[in-house]
Amino acid sequence: MPELAYLNGEIRPINETYVPIEDRGYQFGDAVYEFIASYNGKLFCLKEHLDRLQKSMKGLSFPKLDKSFIESAVYELFEKAKMPRAGLYIQISRGVAPRDHAWKKDIKLQIIMTIKKVDELDPKIRTKGIDIITVQDERWSNCDIKTVQILFNSMAKQKAKDQGAFDAIFVSKDGIVREGTSSNFFIVKDKSVITHPLTKNILPGITRMVIMDLARDLGLKPEEKFFSKTDIFSAQEAFLTGTLTEILGIKAIDDVPIGKGKPGEITQKLYKALREKAK
Ligand code: PMP
Repeated sequence: MPELAYLNGEIRPINETYVPIEDRGYQFGDAVYEFIASYNGKLFCLKEHLDRLQKSMKGLSFPKLDKSFIESAVYELFEKAKMPRAGLYIQISRGVAPRDHAWKKDIKLQIIMTIKKVDELDPKIRTKGIDIITVQDERWSNCDIKTVQILFNSMAKQKAKDQGAFDAIFVSKDGIVREGTSSNFFIVKDKSVITHPLTKNILPGITRMVIMDLARDLGLKPEEKFFSKTDIFSAQEAFLTGTLTEILGIKAIDDVPIGKGKPGEITQKLYKALREKAK
């Protein structure tokens, strides 16, 4: 099956699908999105992703979209594509209208989706761990809403790559470690698995939530609390979490090794547990 796209109810190959120039997502970043992965022909945490999509839409004062409507559209595309390990991207924009900062009340939501095979990460990267850099967080103050305005995230990721690192994490002006460019960030200290609390400064990651549950099941102590760059350097392990990232162990941050300078035991245990759950 070719990679497919869904546009307001019609499904076609991606390279034959176009959105109008005056889509507000394109001109103003006035759109929200989700990215859902499947394992063995099953969409992982679909309900959680659709709940977050609705919250993001509410956050931008979009009209309410029936959850069963979007869910059946997702299944229609997913079943047509027949890709057991797929990445399904949903983007909903406020709609198409002559360019104007304000919008008219009768504007209609524009719904697009794409589906592609997941490109698995090289297993060597998972075993060796990744290098990351820190970048000052200069994003807007509603990072809990999953909008397509992720230019600063994209610039930070590019900066990391240009410096030979895999990714970057954001640190606030006053030194609080927030999250990755497309992932949440955790440190491990003894049996505590610590991550930033749910505030408007980070995205409430679905994988983040799953990992906290798995940590509890493994007899660890998931904790949501603020921590600084100094706390990272005294951690035994650190990792990123996300739908595509899954769990990715970190070997060094700003060239300073974390723990033993490779993914730790707890990171590996959590990765195994996640793959098991997603099966
Ligand atoms: N934070 C940011 C900024 C992200 O873009 C993502 C991935 N969309 C995440 C965290 C992880 O979220 P999830 O686990 O739901 O993929």
